[in-house]
Amino acid sequence: MDKKNLYINGNWVEANEYYELKSPYSQEVIANVPLADKSHVEEAINAAHESASIMKKMPAHKRADILLKVSALLEENLEEAAKILTLENAKPIKAARVEISRTAQTYRFAAEEAKQLFGETIPMDAAKGAEDKFGFTIREPLGVIAAITPFNFPFNLAAHKLGPAIAAGNTIVLKPASQTPLSALYIAELFERAGLPKGVLNVLTGSGGVIGDLLVSDNRVKMVTFTGSLEVGKRIKELAGLKRVTLELGSNAPVIIDKVQDLDRAVNKCIQGSFAYSGQVCISVQRIYAHEDIFDEFLEKFASAAQSLVIGNPQDEKTDISALIHTKEVTRVTTWIDEAVSKGATKVLGGELYNPETLLPTILKNVPRQTSLCTLEAFAPIVFVNPIKDINEAIKEANDSQFGLQAGIFTDSIQTALKAARELESGGINVNDVPTFRVDHMPYGGVKNSGLGKEGIKYSTEEMTELKFVSFTS
Ligand code: NAP
Repeated sequence: MDKKNLYINGNWVEANEYYELKSPYSQEVIANVPLADKSHVEEAINAAHESASIMKKMPAHKRADILLKVSALLEENLEEAAKILTLENAKPIKAARVEISRTAQTYRFAAEEAKQLFGETIPMDAAKGAEDKFGFTIREPLGVIAAITPFNFPFNLAAHKLGPAIAAGNTIVLKPASQTPLSALYIAELFERAGLPKGVLNVLTGSGGVIGDLLVSDNRVKMVTFTGSLEVGKRIKELAGLKRVTLELGSNAPVIIDKVQDLDRAVNKCIQGSFAYSGQVCISVQRIYAHEDIFDEFLEKFASAAQSLVIGNPQDEKTDISALIHTKEVTRVTTWIDEAVSKGATKVLGGELYNPETLLPTILKNVPRQTSLCTLEAFAPIVFVNPIKDINEAIKEANDSQFGLQAGIFTDSIQTALKAARELESGGINVNDVPTFRVDHMPYGGVKNSGLGKEGIKYSTEEMTELKFVSFTS
């Protein structure tokens, strides 16, 4: 069995205690993982704090080179990295490969961004009394950044924090989810091989409940960048004080299907958007509002396509749907299905278990508003389809949510598309695509309880800098 170490100040450090990491699908123990304690948090923050001056002086071309090298190493080792992912979070292998390729691209975007940290000149003579001044801005690194990441895209979502942090010349303490520590330790190895100076990246594995507060409240940490649940995000915001905070939280993403000519395109995209990685995606399609004129046809085609998804071992090349991250999640969503049915919803497909770890793709219709399935984040292969009379009703239903991360609409009408783009309360709107569409350089981040601040490499790199103003008097 693989015994892992913490990564602190460029050293692989043993912990006092370890936990057994189990693969979600097979339930086999795949590694012994260190449980960081208070002293490790102190050492990691100290190392990141001490190495901040090294990063501040490192030229942009060197920061870019390190990021490019990590990207290349990931591509060279794509199969190995994808296998780690499949083992630790049960992502089907074909989707795991896509995540690794995307991660390599995310680091390349970050390398490009390292060389784009422009300032601007300020027309000082626009103000009376400042005619003799010349003013400009520069962007400086913040210093130590605490990065806390979730289980579902452990490579790429860590890259959305490490990439921009290094591009902007910061140092990092990374705390990955307890279920996905192996990817974080693997990426630390690649950064080491790429020549990142000691102390710049530190990885603390172990329980967020135990070390999270210490990380978030330490005054040497200048920014907390968090991706995860609303509950933890709220706590981080409360504890972070005056630190900069970025929160990328959950959602129950809606998609509207208008009376479109090409219903098959909407069906195919909704299949991908609802069931990719068993719905454990923050922008997974959870609520579909289909126009009443095409409702029956859409539902029939959608259910039939969902039925052909392949369920099973994530290591099999053909698998589309596999185990949820923990069996307790299976129990939770099964209760939600029962609740929805008891309140009037109809089960169209699934609802049963493939095995104790895996829920079959599930579709319901006519789900009432006051159900967990409508109001909370399912994070499972469950989606509902409700009929709507017109675009006004669809937008009203879609907006009736505490969340607002991304939304989608399929329509053949430019007027309807523009109306939806203006009126949907969401961080991003995808016209003729599902909310699940994301590429890694676009601005991305939620409104309402879906978060605070934007990711997307350009945007997060900027958030990880301080804008300094300089004036010269002639
Ligand atoms: P989670 O339970 O909130 O955990 C996220 C991270 O926070 C983990 O590393 C966790 O560590 C840590 N954590 C737990 N308690 C903490 C505390 N008190 N202080 C600091 N950190 C703490 O989320 P998850 O189950 O891994 O991920 C699923 C959630 O992430 C969903 O809500 C999903 O929508 C959201 N998500 C959002 C985006 C986005 O971009 N908006 C992307 C992906 C996922 P432990 O694992 O040790 O508890």
